[in-house]
Amino acid sequence: MFIFEPPDLPEREDLVVTDRHSRREFLGIAALGIGSTLTPEWLHRVSVESRGGSPPDVDLVVLNAKVYTMDPTMPRAEAFAVKFGRIVAIGRTADIRGLARKGTQRFDAKQMTIVPGFIDTHNHAGGTTLLYEVLVGNPFEVEFVTIASILDKLRAKARATPAGTWVDGYFFDDTKLKDKRPLNVHDLDQVSTEHPVVVHHRGGHTSFYNSKAFELARVTKDTPNPAGGTFDRDEAGDLTGRVTDRARGVFNGVGQRPTFTAAQRAQRERDGIAHISKQFVRYGLTSVHHEGGDLTAIQDVHARGDLHHRVSYEPNEQTIETMIADGIKTGFGDEWIKFGATSEHTVDGSFSERTMALSTPYPGTQYKGNITETQADLDAWVEKVHRAGIQVNCHANGDVAIDMYLTAIERAQQAFPRTDARPKITHCTLINDDLVRRIKAAGAVPAMFTTYAYYNSDKFVFYGEELMKRCMAYRTLLDAGIPATAGSDFSPGPFAPLMGMQGMVTRTGWDGKTWGANQRISVDEAIKVNTINGAYASREETLKGSITEGKLADFVVLAEDPHTVSPDKIKDMQIVRTVVGGMAVYQ
Ligand SMILES: [Zn+2]
Repeated sequence: MFIFEPPDLPEREDLVVTDRHSRREFLGIAALGIGSTLTPEWLHRVSVESRGGSPPDVDLVVLNAKVYTMDPTMPRAEAFAVKFGRIVAIGRTADIRGLARKGTQRFDAKQMTIVPGFIDTHNHAGGTTLLYEVLVGNPFEVEFVTIASILDKLRAKARATPAGTWVDGYFFDDTKLKDKRPLNVHDLDQVSTEHPVVVHHRGGHTSFYNSKAFELARVTKDTPNPAGGTFDRDEAGDLTGRVTDRARGVFNGVGQRPTFTAAQRAQRERDGIAHISKQFVRYGLTSVHHEGGDLTAIQDVHARGDLHHRVSYEPNEQTIETMIADGIKTGFGDEWIKFGATSEHTVDGSFSERTMALSTPYPGTQYKGNITETQADLDAWVEKVHRAGIQVNCHANGDVAIDMYLTAIERAQQAFPRTDARPKITHCTLINDDLVRRIKAAGAVPAMFTTYAYYNSDKFVFYGEELMKRCMAYRTLLDAGIPATAGSDFSPGPFAPLMGMQGMVTRTGWDGKTWGANQRISVDEAIKVNTINGAYASREETLKGSITEGKLADFVVLAEDPHTVSPDKIKDMQIVRTVVGGMAVYQ
């Protein structure tokens, strides 16, 4: 290992340079490949200074590619060079080829397409669940299952679990059932009458319980619904088994949970991070915003060389308190693991599970969704985090929740003005003109559902076309100059960026149905949403998100060009190679 001085980015010319000679040579190389009248002033200057020196070797040259840089100063290129994990030159193949020396890796892209590495701005990154738990649905793709298959898997788990201990199933999706009827308490009673059994909807806001679980939690058909949640009942008034949002809290303290030693737990967390990191890069993700998770495990996996993607770590409430007490702000860390915004602080229910807070009832019902936080509590939380110099991030799906969150932001900004605070709005699903104006005024950054347009098209009938015209409103937000970003919300949504892009471009789902076609965006815009806008969300737009001299060499090689492939085949394009810091982490 050796230390190197990274090239200054234009904003950072005041950095102290300790080794002038090597830095000049390094930047000289960067200037060589430009071949463009758009060469930034700072590169021109260094280029003149270093004239006459012989350029050092570069580590990697990528040649004969169709590069979509997402950098407006040079949108297209054929080739680029990488040294010490950064892009140091970009331009024509003829220019870049000349930079290779003995020992330089050459990658002939044979006219394949290269885009910046994809960035997911909202991901629960639950690798441990993927590895160790019972999965009753497909985490990655549209797949229909039967209730019988769910019960079989849970029965097998129950047989290996002591009576009284919870049996959990994950990745359930209520609209991906071949049975065409809801999962209910009677189904789950067939798994066991001695174990509490729960099936978690992949959306994370509803769960389905058996009678034993209700008995342990002392919930009967006469138990009133608590604030912010429901115990669903059928026409006869009996419990169906479905419980929404905050009503699920009563199950927390009851029944036995599997126990692990501290060492076992640490091992599981490390295995989970290493596992999901492999999955991320398989789909072209090079940076992921993690909703909490085990920070120690992430660091350990990085130290042993198994972290393939970069982490913007979004701390949970407990860690936020520690950060505030110790003066740690957003941005602390390095280019692999860095504190980003907070984890989503939840204001309302779910889009996919139809519990988000709407200003008008769900079509055909009296129900307007769940608000899970009071305005006063939300105001206090936003103010506390904002004052501490930590990027605020709330989960707000419905127009009512977005309104509440913006009110809290506006209030905090007025009391403690901070320039460029970039409050993050996770999901930001249902907007209206007034909300768009306030999002823009607050400089807020939405992290919106990506794969839902394709994956969850079977759920949009519950909202109807009129509401869907204002849901996942990429077109409206981009037109307003708001940097919309792509937050898959895995596990609720699959995280595949190409599935997300197909949905943004077509607004057509797996079932062939199109919803809210007015919100379609172009392929180029979809790439931007998934790359440079994502970098902006974590305040790293000078470090990554485009193929630009001085930035991290994070990129994806695609077998086909999403601009020319049929729009309904975007999700099926092959990812040939994913590169992070100049290293192929998947091929
Ligand atoms: Zn989430």
